[in-house]
Amino acid sequence: MSQEKYFFGNLQLSKNVYRAIKEMGFEEPSPIQAQAIPPLLANKDVIGQAQTGTGKTAAFGIPIVEKINPRYKGVQALVLTPTRELAIQVAEEISKIGKFKEVKTLPIYGGQPIERQIHALKKGVQIVIGTPGRILDHLNRKTLILNNVKMVVLDEADEMLDMGFIDDIQTIFEFLPETRQTLLFSATMPVPILSLAKKYLNEPEWITVSKDELTVPLIEQIYYEVRENERLAALCRILDASQITQAIIFCRTKKGVDDLVGSLQARGYAVDGLHGDLTQSQRDKVMNSFRLGKLEFLVATDVAARGIDVDNVSHVINYEVPQDPESYVHRIGRTGRAGRQGTAITLVVPREYKQLRLIEKLANTSIRKEKLPTLADIAE
Ligand code: ADP
Ligand code: MG
Repeated sequence: MSQEKYFFGNLQLSKNVYRAIKEMGFEEPSPIQAQAIPPLLANKDVIGQAQTGTGKTAAFGIPIVEKINPRYKGVQALVLTPTRELAIQVAEEISKIGKFKEVKTLPIYGGQPIERQIHALKKGVQIVIGTPGRILDHLNRKTLILNNVKMVVLDEADEMLDMGFIDDIQTIFEFLPETRQTLLFSATMPVPILSLAKKYLNEPEWITVSKDELTVPLIEQIYYEVRENERLAALCRILDASQITQAIIFCRTKKGVDDLVGSLQARGYAVDGLHGDLTQSQRDKVMNSFRLGKLEFLVATDVAARGIDVDNVSHVINYEVPQDPESYVHRIGRTGRAGRQGTAITLVVPREYKQLRLIEKLANTSIRKEKLPTLADIAE
């Protein structure tokens, strides 16, 4: 399978969509796209299992745009995502795919004034991308009508369940028509996801993109040995010595994020932080600055960084060893996007060793030890 070449030209896309994806710089479909798009265009339900960075958004975004009836201005497709950032990002990508067809998309998420969303919905929206809580809020207010929805997507379903959205999702399905196409995408397939699929999907086609087919480019994974009281100094040295375009630095806690942002800003780095205690407008502002390259570094918690896709992220840095292997895999997936090379760096103190080894084992990966850059390296 991995030897096979795929072409968008073979997928029988409309001219508008084909032109849009070429303009987005997509030359060939990724394996998940090549496998999911044909059954989706044939109205089948699909379960797609693939890790981060495999191009899942366009795998469902392209068929959604193809199926939108341009003459009907009401909601025809619903995408549920675990976080606000992801909702915005998916909405942006689908908008690009639908650029020439002029489809109307809207991200809907908590933290933004609901009136603004109600106003936008009233003007006519064909594709809604949102987080479960806020979608449900609109359904209860009857400001979002899903009676004419033809396609529903659960994006990053495992993340949504991890975040406790299961009840909201079940309630949202009660508002959906019986006759519809349902899609579920998830990096992992634990039992609760399988039950969800069994309950809401109808004879789904199951597509798995295995490890050797991943389009994720090689991400160089290294770690540095440090002592607890050296973490900050080591980080600064790494930031100074490495060829970093932009980096996301992960901390375990919100307080950890705030503290590190303070320390780095005091040392003159162009950095800001992202975590769940910030208001939506603060988060949007930080993300915009980062996307625009005004910030070189972003310090974030796992939750805040879920699904973030910024092309220029050359490095992901774990300030501490992450608590679980999945979180490690998700974090490093933030670099090496869209075919670029990426580096993942982890700072490890002696008591974190066991955890690092466990991650290597469970994530089936190898993380290479490197020597900390010296002052001479920095001066070069
Ligand atoms: P996932 O949801 O699987 O994590 P995304 O859909 O966010 O992955 O895609 C990851 C990145 O790859 C995005 O920047 C996206 O624009 C890019 N991408 C997706 N499909 C293609 C393709 N066929 N060719 C080139 N780049 C692509
Ligand atoms: Mg995705």
